[in-house]
Amino acid sequence: MRTVSVFGSTGSIGCNTLSLLGAEHHVKVLTAARNAAKLADQAIAHKAELAVIEDETLLPELTSRLSGTSVRATAGQTALIEAAQEPVDWAMSAIIGSAGLAPTLALAGSARTLALANKESMVCAGELVNAKCAASGCQLIPVDSEHSAIFQALAGQDSKQVRRVLLTSSGGPFRTWSLAQMKEASLADTLNHPNFSMGQRITIDSATMFNKALEVIEAQQLFAVTSEQIDVVVHPQQIVHSMVEFQDMTILAQLGSPDMRGAIGYALHYPQRKPLPIEPLDFMTLSRLDFEPPDETRFPALRLAREVLVHGGLTGTVFNAAKEVALDKFIAGHIGFLDMADLIAYVLDRLVEESAVQHSTEGLDIVMGMDKSARDIGQTWRPT
Ligand code: NDP
Repeated sequence: MRTVSVFGSTGSIGCNTLSLLGAEHHVKVLTAARNAAKLADQAIAHKAELAVIEDETLLPELTSRLSGTSVRATAGQTALIEAAQEPVDWAMSAIIGSAGLAPTLALAGSARTLALANKESMVCAGELVNAKCAASGCQLIPVDSEHSAIFQALAGQDSKQVRRVLLTSSGGPFRTWSLAQMKEASLADTLNHPNFSMGQRITIDSATMFNKALEVIEAQQLFAVTSEQIDVVVHPQQIVHSMVEFQDMTILAQLGSPDMRGAIGYALHYPQRKPLPIEPLDFMTLSRLDFEPPDETRFPALRLAREVLVHGGLTGTVFNAAKEVALDKFIAGHIGFLDMADLIAYVLDRLVEESAVQHSTEGLDIVMGMDKSARDIGQTWRPT
């Protein structure tokens, strides 16, 4: 029996993770932010030991939904971190945004294997997460499909022989849209992802390619490669999940149907491979695989990611915080689609110019302080 915790269990990655658990898994902790009904249903269905809701006002509802069961209920930030400190064999970090950072760090100290979907942890504080894993002996396995592909391509290889990593990108719903069309893009247009069914925020990040920008920064932290060693290739079919090019010019690619359960299942069963409920890839009907360079004029996100890699330190934290502010404003209808990149560029410029970006990731407080400064500046931005 393996003990398992899923942080962010009510989300898209969390639900997919739960769907893959079997009789050999004993669920210790499940968590949500506000969806008490779904969290309670999951906790009962999976016989979890503990259900944690981040919003403390919802503890009475959660407790009442769990009454008569053996599941304990707790609430709030402190409870979330305490739950993440519970030792487990395997944990999934799938809270969205920088809210996932503190739980991820706690899990890195307590889980034997940490499946990491919360890319923001690596973007904002990759050094801290890596150091925590090294100190505790926790095995970190990326769950982002691109990083899972790279992780799989690197298995058994000498990382010193890596020439480049090539992150693939679908190009999102606006791959063929003009700049003028993108300026008018609505929230509904943005949520219309061609291949993957994902949570709302990451779907918007795919349309802007902010998601790819986060992944570029994440790749640098996960695989210790330089900015020059990371390339992005637009691949609309998303069959090739990413690739690694070695010094002998051999490229190892990982292919499969576009289904997040592939990367989650790989992390769950690592180092074994077990059957997963995924459509097999049929090369006889697969008509074509296309590749093209990303257009950094229409998608400035990638240019901004390079800036982050050049400046280093906590620039990733600034980028992510500004992006979260931009996303909130876009979802609320206060700014347009293209304004999001302008807001992030403004915040980065302000903090980099003022040399205010800290270069130390010594502790979570420093990271969260930088996050707050970036959010405050982001709130002051207005479209011209
Ligand atoms: P969702 O928005 O679908 O789910 C987020 C989860 O986090 C929910 O359980 C939510 O609870 C919880 N949550 C949200 N805010 C907080 C908070 N402040 N404190 C505690 N819990 C919180 O996200 P996804 O599943 O799409 O993504 C999760 C992570 O995985 C992200 O970092 C994303 O970038 C990454 N990822 C996602 C992929 C995908 O296919 N979806 C692919 C690759 C990576 P509640 O339901 O109550 O709101």
